[in-house]
Amino acid sequence: MFRRPFDDLSGARVFITGAASGIGRACAELAAAEGASVFLTDRNAEALDTVAAQVRTSGGRVPFVEAADISDHSAVKEMAARLTREHGAMDVVMNVAGISSWGTVQSLEHEQWRKMIDVNLMGPIHVIEELVPPMIEAGRPGHLVNVSSAAGIIGMPWHAAYSASKFGLRGVSEVLRFDLRRHRIGVSLVCPGGVDTGLTETIDIAGVDKATPAFEKAHKRFRSRAVSPDAAAEAILDGVRRNKYWVYTSNDIRLIHFLQRHCSPAYVLAMRAMNYGANRALPAVGRARRTGGQA
Ligand code: NAD
Repeated sequence: MFRRPFDDLSGARVFITGAASGIGRACAELAAAEGASVFLTDRNAEALDTVAAQVRTSGGRVPFVEAADISDHSAVKEMAARLTREHGAMDVVMNVAGISSWGTVQSLEHEQWRKMIDVNLMGPIHVIEELVPPMIEAGRPGHLVNVSSAAGIIGMPWHAAYSASKFGLRGVSEVLRFDLRRHRIGVSLVCPGGVDTGLTETIDIAGVDKATPAFEKAHKRFRSRAVSPDAAAEAILDGVRRNKYWVYTSNDIRLIHFLQRHCSPAYVLAMRAMNYGANRALPAVGRARRTGGQA
């Protein structure tokens, strides 16, 4: 009862969160160009409408566009009920939307830890709760994509709050890849490394002024190594077509994951070096202190 690979996404109904920007937007454009009908959501209504209009202008089918905050369960529930009532069950559900906060345990505010879980973990859970049961009932082969991160695999500096959410999503995916197999619904766990998207601008680093030359230098270095959102979307849709569980968008993450599993001492050394390098490049992160009181 395993899901056979899709030849392509032509004719498939593909639901995408985070479609207003970056990886979600690139997935929407690519899936629509392949002939899928794309059902788009994001909390940023204006940017979402712009993406939907652009996809339609390029000849893509966008039967549904609705702004929602995925961390709000009742909003997701209402949207999903309307979507399913008007358009039927989806064939592919893609959890792409996410945010990022980094910081040390001394600098992260309670609200930042909470937000990571609410948006990056509970958001996809809300979508899964509301859209996967109709897929099961429809009885057709389908696919669920959960965009985690390299920070859902390895211990990157200052990523404790973000990793809490991304490892959580990895846990959900690890179970569902087996639970959903009997329903012929495949699962892909996407673990991007650097992708040059708006997230690199909106990233929130506790206690750090992003206008400093040290941050700008580190940001530039990150962007020079990052892959494009289009390349990430290619890797993700390839994962959907071929029913692949692990989806990497760059070889550095494939390599570090291999080292973690097969050569643990090399992984530990690499992580120590990364931590040392990060603290040298942005010492302000280590020095930052919480501003608020006890939460
Ligand atoms: P992005 O900022 O370009 O796009 C994220 C989109 O999610 C935005 O349009 C934003 O409005 C939307 N969003 C955020 N919070 C939301 C909420 N509560 N409800 C609904 N929509 C919401 O970022 P991106 O790089 O395209 O990120 C996509 C995913 O990839 C995220 O889950 C992110 O954690 C993951 N990721 C990105 C990178 C990277 O380097 N860019 C690396 C690893 C993982």
